[in-house]
Amino acid sequence: MTDSPKKPRTADREIPASLDSLYQEVILDHYRRPQNKSALDDATHTITMSNPLCGDVIELLLRVEDSKIAEACFLGRGCSISQASVSMLTNRIAGKTLEEATEISAKFTQLLHGDDTLLTDPALGDLRALAGVSKFPVRIKCALLGWNCLEELVETGPTSVGPAE
Ligand code: ZN
Repeated sequence: MTDSPKKPRTADREIPASLDSLYQEVILDHYRRPQNKSALDDATHTITMSNPLCGDVIELLLRVEDSKIAEACFLGRGCSISQASVSMLTNRIAGKTLEEATEISAKFTQLLHGDDTLLTDPALGDLRALAGVSKFPVRIKCALLGWNCLEELVETGPTSVGPAE
């Protein structure tokens, strides 16, 4: 281990310093080793949204089969909070129906708006690491960008023609 923990790199500094250090680690872990960050050739739902305030861009790609999210991937760039949040999102919604995913999204949005009762809700899993972001209104948009993509996709339905039938 040659990394010096004393000298935070850019990504580390993007996280509000007062966030609990364990939470910081969870967020940085997803940022540095994002889950499901890849293209998805047979995606049924895709959307790209951005957060110009911060420069975050996220493309969310879903493959929905039998009304379940069989696979969820993302592409994009941006701050550690936006990227960690969407990385967690793809883990959390895989295997869920669109309705279930929407429920998780609603809970996560509430959590970020300061509803601490959701801190004990197992449905949110490691997303709870982002709860501290609620104290930083500017960063809430970062944390919610991937979820805004999800809600928009659920609303608009399939965005591309699936495999020929
Ligand atoms: Zn951001």
